[in-house]
Amino acid sequence: MEEGFEKDGRAAYVQIARKLDQSEAVLQAAHAMVASRERFDLSALSAFSYEILGNYPKLYTIVFYQKIVKSERERYLEQMTRHTGVTVNITDFDINRRRSWLSAPQRDIYYPVTMVEPTSLESRALYGYDILHEPRLARELKEAIATGEIVVSMPFELNGGARVYLLMKGVYRNGGPGVIPLRPDSPLVEGVVAVQVHFEQLLAPLRLESQSLNIALYQRELPGVHGSLLLYERSFKPAKASQWPLFQRFESKMDLPSEAQPFVLSLSRNVTWAELRLSVLVFQELLVTLLLLALWQVYLQRLYLHRARSSADEALFSQRERVEVALNAIRDGVITLSHDRRVEWVNPMAQELLGLQAEQILGRDYREVLRLQLGLSDVSRVDPIGQSFLYQQVVEFPDELLLSTFYGETRLVEGAVAPLFSRTGEMNGAVCAIRDMGPIRRRAQAVLEASENRVRDHLEKLSHVARLHTMGEMASGIAHELNQPLAAISNYCAASLAMLEDVEEAPVQVADALKAAIRQAERSGEIIKRLRAFVSKRSMDVRQIDLNLLVGNSLFLAEYDLRSNGVQVVQMLSANPVTVMADSIQIEQVLMNLLSNAIEAMKGEREGCRQLVIHSHVVLSQAILEVRDSGRGISPEVEAVLFHPFYSTREGGMGLGLSICQTIVEQYGGSIEAENIPGSGACFRLRLPFAPALSPPAAPPAALPLGVTR
Ligand code: ADP
Repeated sequence: MEEGFEKDGRAAYVQIARKLDQSEAVLQAAHAMVASRERFDLSALSAFSYEILGNYPKLYTIVFYQKIVKSERERYLEQMTRHTGVTVNITDFDINRRRSWLSAPQRDIYYPVTMVEPTSLESRALYGYDILHEPRLARELKEAIATGEIVVSMPFELNGGARVYLLMKGVYRNGGPGVIPLRPDSPLVEGVVAVQVHFEQLLAPLRLESQSLNIALYQRELPGVHGSLLLYERSFKPAKASQWPLFQRFESKMDLPSEAQPFVLSLSRNVTWAELRLSVLVFQELLVTLLLLALWQVYLQRLYLHRARSSADEALFSQRERVEVALNAIRDGVITLSHDRRVEWVNPMAQELLGLQAEQILGRDYREVLRLQLGLSDVSRVDPIGQSFLYQQVVEFPDELLLSTFYGETRLVEGAVAPLFSRTGEMNGAVCAIRDMGPIRRRAQAVLEASENRVRDHLEKLSHVARLHTMGEMASGIAHELNQPLAAISNYCAASLAMLEDVEEAPVQVADALKAAIRQAERSGEIIKRLRAFVSKRSMDVRQIDLNLLVGNSLFLAEYDLRSNGVQVVQMLSANPVTVMADSIQIEQVLMNLLSNAIEAMKGEREGCRQLVIHSHVVLSQAILEVRDSGRGISPEVEAVLFHPFYSTREGGMGLGLSICQTIVEQYGGSIEAENIPGSGACFRLRLPFAPALSPPAAPPAALPLGVTR
């Protein structure tokens, strides 16, 4: 096959090179005809050209472009019109816009088409066409005029679509460039003779063994220009299907010998079906390749399937793992049954509920291991698992269902049975979930009982509060009742004192005793009055009050307790009023509570070591009142719950005092805190927003504490 290609290649090369030579020979002949004649004769050139072309039909057209200077233009046109029989004008070809002829403007020099052979109706239109101003040809034309050599033009297309190029050579009046004119008045013309070569004719009719060659002509690579320019290409187009090309097999490139036409011949050959069938070897080669490809495909397929299967296995495994871990961890018993109602799988909780190990359960009929006590209290009950198998539905366990373990222990259980289906929709088993209700019930019971206890406790304390409240009401009534006899005592004493004045030598001690009785009666009346005010129901009366004065009042009320417990009171009160905005009775209530707690805390101390210090002062914008005692102090466990309601260490104490104090103080934007005094005792500190006195604060009744130092 390769040999044939080489042979055909050589033949093509020789034939094309010969045609190129012929082209040049035709040009030289035409050129010689013009250049060698003493007189230029257009008809003679025409006839000569016609004669040469007789040997090369279709291959060439001979053209003569005559140089015309401006002054010769009119004469030239006249001559041409006469010679050709058509009106000749000097024209340009408007290739860009309308592809039509335009009358050429005035120029110094023209190179119009003066002769075209063979002549046709179409070629006559070319007469007068000035190719010096034809952009596609002007450069090579000028080169031909300047050098006197054969110059080849760039390829271009004729109106009919044929692709051609020109070989051009200059004709000189004086023999050529650089030649000194012998006869300046020589009648010779100047111009350019050109041969127009048809590529198709140059490449196509070749005598070759096989006609299946692809032939192309390239311009030889020019210096400084990368790549060779494709001039013309002729691909092999087979007529028969068996000749259809499969792939390009052979290729060669050769420089053609002509210097004037510096072309490169490129040949290639396609391998066709017909050739393949002939070549058993190639067929075998193809077969083996196809076989290998098929095997490769099968291998890839298997690899893909293998990978897909292992990743599916992996996903399945991890999913099973998760489900199993979850089922093993939950506190519900789970049992799966096969289509014939045998146990397939049990989780640890189910084993615990049944009181059996997995190996004692698996594979057995569920009725042998799952002892549900049905129908004891209600004969209409039926087995929920059997129901689920029968109706192929989820069945909930009935209420109050008992499950007996293997060892006879019974548990209250809840649960449900759900059928399992195959892909085809047939029931192939069931899942049974069982929950032991015992622990849940017990926990619920414990929570209920604890809550009931708390409610009971609370109710008791509330009833205590209610009793205290009633007592407060009663105390108010009693105080009112006592006022009368006290007033009577005071009056009787005053009357007795008056009567005593009339008695001569009456003992002085009696008068003194009566005066003391009157004082005590008045004092008792005062105490009762204050007590009534303290316990009476009244609306809040928030106004500016002086804490120093409230301290006096409270000490007055608590005086009995303080004295009977041998408490020494030290008042360290600010010299200026410590004023706050509050209801005086409420703040007194706070103070009374703190005093009562302090007395209580000091009961365990030795007599003579019970001291109460009350300190009032103003720091920045805070009015501060401290009540310090020398008692047992606050233990760490008490400290955390000190202000909680109902917390008390006192025998019969309510534990509401400090909680109420806190509520009252916070209501006025203040706070109450407690701390232990290093050494002994506790300190309770009230902080209230200081309200500077604009006018003298309201004066509560003056206190008259006895045994109290200021
Ligand atoms: P109660 O006086 O009814 O017990 P309180 O709320 O007034 O209720 O007091 C709660 C508890 O705070 C007291 O039982 C006691 O343990 C403790 N407490 C209050 N004041 C003092 C104090 N000055 N010193 C030591 N402990 C105190």
